[in-house]
Amino acid sequence: MQVPLLDLKAQYATIKDEVLKQINEVLDSQQCIGGPKVTELENKIAELCECKYAVGMSSGTDAILASLMALGIGPGDEVITTPFTFFATAGCIARVGAKPVFVDIDPTTYNINPALIEPVITKKTKAIMPVHLYGQVADMDPIMQIAGQASLAVVEDACQAISATYKGKKAGAIGTCGCFSFFPSKNLGGIGDGGMTVTSDEDLYKMLVWMRNHGSEPKYYHKYIGGNFRLDPIQAAALLVKLPHLADWSQMRRKNAAFYTKKFKKTVIQTPVIADDCELIFNQYVIRVPRRDELVRHLQANKIGCEIYYPVPLHLQECFAYLGYKAGDMPEAEKAAREVLALPIYPELTDEMKEFVVKTILDFYK
Ligand SMILES: *Cc1c(COP(=O)(O)O)cnc(C)c1O
Repeated sequence: MQVPLLDLKAQYATIKDEVLKQINEVLDSQQCIGGPKVTELENKIAELCECKYAVGMSSGTDAILASLMALGIGPGDEVITTPFTFFATAGCIARVGAKPVFVDIDPTTYNINPALIEPVITKKTKAIMPVHLYGQVADMDPIMQIAGQASLAVVEDACQAISATYKGKKAGAIGTCGCFSFFPSKNLGGIGDGGMTVTSDEDLYKMLVWMRNHGSEPKYYHKYIGGNFRLDPIQAAALLVKLPHLADWSQMRRKNAAFYTKKFKKTVIQTPVIADDCELIFNQYVIRVPRRDELVRHLQANKIGCEIYYPVPLHLQECFAYLGYKAGDMPEAEKAAREVLALPIYPELTDEMKEFVVKTILDFYK
């Protein structure tokens, strides 16, 4: 048996006709930039997130980049974030000319440890960027409290956590703004790149709309320097077909996660810790294991897909050497990078596939 980490074809087969119909509507209208599909998706995502506004963006990365630009963050500024995330989080901070300042993670949730934030705040700090890793919202209450006291913006990198909740609040709707990715492997994935920023701040919303379109308002009058960060209407059309399924798909991921977690009880395999009052969407199901790299080879030999998110914490990436961090500075992130492993969790996994994954892993540790 083969068990891929993700099987997009299985999902596409269930919605193919509707996706093609929606894409055809865009093509027939020849409204190839912006238009009603983009607006409809923005309205629906704003509603889903319980936010006033949503601005479609060309990717999750551009959603983050445009948010930082819209907040006026640039050279001389510092943004506090986690080193245990996808590169884009800190990459965008550096791209606007600001300095990423890393603090270590909470080893149980892998999210930024709020207790470590205050000591690194300086006069230059402008924002905190928590990441909701694997589909679990970071501990936002203390983060919002610290940000409030120091008058900092909070940009949520919610790229892996659309519709996840924290104490009844939606991911992306807790901070100043929240950024989503529609990369195909995300819970709500397009048929290419796409993203969105949500906010309830009207001024920020206007800035985001300007930044998305070269800072122009009206056309050809540029008060700000923005970029082309527009969401493609063909992506919006496909996403509108997928959105009504998001709750069910995330529920199936939670069911798969519960299955694994039960089977791995009382073994050496550490399963994901779900913080109180959080509902996860399991964009990834990540275990923590001894002899991780040997297990990877064992799974590969058995044709089971798996992935390490992420093998090198950002403070140790070559491109960030200029920041002056060294090995040992973020011990929990570094330890996690050596021990974590994501298993297949996608909604369409069959019982036989899950049983095979469990059996193959338990056999390895026998
Ligand atoms: C996917 C992801 C991004 C970037 O999204 P793209 O749409 O691929 O640009 C940023 N941050 C995190 C945490 C992500 O998982």
